[in-house]
Amino acid sequence: MMWETVHKNPIQANLLDYAAECRSFSWEGARARLYGRHGLNIAYEAVDRHAETERRHQTALRCVGRDDKVTELTYLDLHRETGRFANVLRELGVGKGERVFTLLGRVPDLYVTVLGTLKNLSVLSPLFSAFGPEPIRERLRLGGGRVLVTTPELYARKVAPIRDSLPALEHVLVTGDGPAPEGTRLLREAMTGASPRFDIPPTDSEDMALLHFTSGTTGRPKGAVHVHAAVIAHRATAVYALDLRPEDTFWCTADPGWVTGMSYGVIAPLTIGATVVADTGEFDARRWYRTLQDQRVSVWYTAPTALRMLMRHGGELAAGYDLSRLRFVASVGEPLNPEIVVWGLRALGLPVHDNWWQTETGAIMISNYAAMDVKPGSMGRPLPGIRAALLRRGADGRALVSDGEVQVVEEPDAEGELALRPGWPSMFRGYLDDPERYAKAFAGGWYLTGDVARRDADGYYWFVARADDVIKSAGHLIGPFEVESVLMEHPAVAEAGVIGKPDPVAGELVKAFVTLRPGHEPTDALRRELVAFGRRRLGAVAPKEIAFDQNLPHTRSGKVMRRLLKARELGLPEGDISTLEGSG
Ligand code: AMP
Repeated sequence: MMWETVHKNPIQANLLDYAAECRSFSWEGARARLYGRHGLNIAYEAVDRHAETERRHQTALRCVGRDDKVTELTYLDLHRETGRFANVLRELGVGKGERVFTLLGRVPDLYVTVLGTLKNLSVLSPLFSAFGPEPIRERLRLGGGRVLVTTPELYARKVAPIRDSLPALEHVLVTGDGPAPEGTRLLREAMTGASPRFDIPPTDSEDMALLHFTSGTTGRPKGAVHVHAAVIAHRATAVYALDLRPEDTFWCTADPGWVTGMSYGVIAPLTIGATVVADTGEFDARRWYRTLQDQRVSVWYTAPTALRMLMRHGGELAAGYDLSRLRFVASVGEPLNPEIVVWGLRALGLPVHDNWWQTETGAIMISNYAAMDVKPGSMGRPLPGIRAALLRRGADGRALVSDGEVQVVEEPDAEGELALRPGWPSMFRGYLDDPERYAKAFAGGWYLTGDVARRDADGYYWFVARADDVIKSAGHLIGPFEVESVLMEHPAVAEAGVIGKPDPVAGELVKAFVTLRPGHEPTDALRRELVAFGRRRLGAVAPKEIAFDQNLPHTRSGKVMRRLLKARELGLPEGDISTLEGSG
């Protein structure tokens, strides 16, 4: 079905003349707009420089608690609290480049920890609080976490059982008023004795700042390394793609354990001097509309799964709330159904603006910016400063590389692997301790994204599919290998193959096919046990469905053919697994 273009005729928008801005834009120019007094430090750009101006009395953060209690921090409060946390780290002897992990929801302590860590030039690595102990252990171990900040409940349930296997983890600070579980210390207590004054040491823009774990088809999670220079792109893209201004109240619903929740949930809006709204509560349609209304949100950045859940409640629910302050809505992380763009027009009075990026790119790359006509279903166009291309693909679905060279697909509407020309400041600088995997992400001078897309004659990009086997469930990227490895630790499981099964709300659900060891029967009781086992070990990324299969298909080299499992699941011809693309 063809969807009608949503035409725009804006009088005011941060990005009005796309062609002119693309011509005049340079990353050096964007960098020059930042203050850079301490070199270039993300936390200085996000907090301290505002504390030196009249903006210090403006609300930086408004956190709505589960009980609806609102906690506010001005830029000056945030400046002091982050200074305190930086001093806590210093007193603990935690220095430059050392890793501080968070396992927290959207609470004020999260913002303080993140920005205080960056002030101290330590490296911040956020964990998804719905992870089970296994993904937490793996990431803390790979990242060499020395400090963890979490809640006493999360610590007791998910970290205490694995603490012995994490010798590098010296300090665990827990939120709340106590008592602190054994082996931990109260964050509040440590902060009380610490001075709010902290002079950020000179920061090289190439100093490591953030470590975001992401997943590939095979092997362990990959730690994407980001540096302080990323803040140049965080700020510039929030101006262009989110149309964000200092007078805005901004709500990013992404979990702070993933890259969006960090780049746009914490850093970008603060660099602009906006007010950040954080809702600690879980998704609930009425609660979300109430947050939009009561917090007078003007710019909202959310995800297709959440919008699909809101859509299920119908447009009438939205009509019961005053959303007149809302002026821009954007979405990221998974394909945005064209129906949602149109639903937004009806229910919110605004189209939803899709944009595209990934952990490795560190910031939005392709977007439907505010002044642009929206073609529902398209991810938009590359932002000024970003050069994108589509590369011809080989039999394995990835860009065809021959003698280190690639072929750029020029003709309109043809598919190819989406590639980006490196050079923007938030580009990842490596996969932690894995230069080989990093090198494999580049060919012919391009960064290969692992996504398949097409571009129409107007230069709009359309997402087609992932070129690999990673799963996107409710916007979260899940590596099948990590899930398979845990299932295979169960005594009944000989082998496992994990795929993303299409789901109308979450995009994909994790489904596992398992081969049982001799002596185990494929009963419902065992199926339930395996689901529970997965859930206990992996948390929210565990398989929701398990099927028994004593004949998992294999490649000649002995790997489980996930694409074939997916073809079977979808009822597609097994011989033509290339047709799988576009299904996810
Ligand atoms: P992550 O690195 O976890 O942020 O996931 C990045 C991946 O999410 C991309 O490579 C895409 O596969 C997918 N993704 C992100 N944004 C979009 C979008 N607007 N439309 C379709 N897929 C998207």
